Amino acid sequence: MRREYVYLKVEEIPKHYYNVLADLPFQLDPPLDPETMEPISPEKLLAIFPESLIEQEISAERFIPIPEPVLKEYAVYRPTPLIRAAFLEEYLGTKTKIYYKYEGGNPTGSHKVNTALAQAYYNKNSGVKTLVTETGAGQWGSALSYAGKKFGLEIKVFMVKVSYEQKPFRKHLMNLFDGTVNPSPSNLTDFGKQFDESHPGTLGIAISEAIETVLKSQNAKYSLGSVLNHVLLHQTIIGLELKEQLKKVGLEPDMIVACHGGGSNFGGTILPFIPDLLDGKNIDLVAVEPESCPSLTKGEYRYDFGDTAGLTPLLKMYTMGKDFVPPSIHAGGLRYHGASPIVSRLYHEKMVKAVNISQEEVFNAGRIFAQVEGIIPAPESAHAIAYVMKEAKKNDKDSIVFTLSGHGYLDLSAYSINGK
Ligand SMILES: *Cc1c(COP(=O)(O)O)cnc(C)c1O
Repeated sequence: MRREYVYLKVEEIPKHYYNVLADLPFQLDPPLDPETMEPISPEKLLAIFPESLIEQEISAERFIPIPEPVLKEYAVYRPTPLIRAAFLEEYLGTKTKIYYKYEGGNPTGSHKVNTALAQAYYNKNSGVKTLVTETGAGQWGSALSYAGKKFGLEIKVFMVKVSYEQKPFRKHLMNLFDGTVNPSPSNLTDFGKQFDESHPGTLGIAISEAIETVLKSQNAKYSLGSVLNHVLLHQTIIGLELKEQLKKVGLEPDMIVACHGGGSNFGGTILPFIPDLLDGKNIDLVAVEPESCPSLTKGEYRYDFGDTAGLTPLLKMYTMGKDFVPPSIHAGGLRYHGASPIVSRLYHEKMVKAVNISQEEVFNAGRIFAQVEGIIPAPESAHAIAYVMKEAKKNDKDSIVFTLSGHGYLDLSAYSINGK
């Protein structure tokens, strides 16, 4: 058995995103206006998002064309390879074939750039000058800073303070692409000023700060790196490519796995397979989340705010509660109290599964993967690896595919203190 790569040509990059809302046998519960608790009007969302992205958020079109300038930028790093994890299979002594779709080989090292480029393009096209956002571990902030540079937008980032301090290199990466970064809670917003110096910050607080900044600025909009329908839509480029690659090698996996923070790499990977599921195909779609922030497996399914201040519309989702402060785990990208409404509903309908994994198991798996496969996985992605290793050891499946959402070269300090 040898390492095997399944490549697509640049011309084979999908030309459309896939919108699962067109195929779901149910309608999602609408986002609610925090002031009236009634379904929010698209006009109100215009304060923070451009019209084109609001349209995508509620679109019923099955396929949405990818604009030419975005396709051009995708060709910098797409199509991404599907790799047979032959060395991991050998290490585990398993008969289960393991493949991974590697999303780390791009300018900022994670799948987030897929939606960052699309969002930067649509905002630029509607005359926006500045995008304000939050970032956990810094992947989203770097991806948006890069995309902002490409499409000529100013990028302002509120970065969760614990990550800002643990991971200074992502700040350097954002600065390299001319993004401005502030640790959150900050004293730049009224909301941020309420917290004391020692607060580690959360994504929920950083989102509140970003939105407050947008509402007080001219020509600025807000940008979110996960959770929302249009973000998952952009990320379906992962699953669409994956389908083509699986066709090339004649593989019908028993299981598809991805880690889960807000749901964008998981959703982007599995949503294009939902029509197969609805056609009666037997395929397990599994989201893997941290034991310490188990929104799907331990959260409640109800309406909740996306942020801590309660400025965002309420979303129907699995949530730990907007005031939940997750422990300062190293997989900063998975420290979100909620989950995407699409993934939440699919989980509620038992169309997808979810599991949680301890940090120790995650780092052990990431370490082994680096040693045998030669790619250092992001701690977030190592959640998927840990679960896949467990499943492959059972030896009861023909094949498993997972998304390796990013590399861990900027998380080396976390590896050096974890999981020996
Ligand atoms: C942000 C991030 C995640 C988690 O976000 P999702 O929206 O759930 O995909 C996972 N992996 C990496 C590498 C990330 O940067």
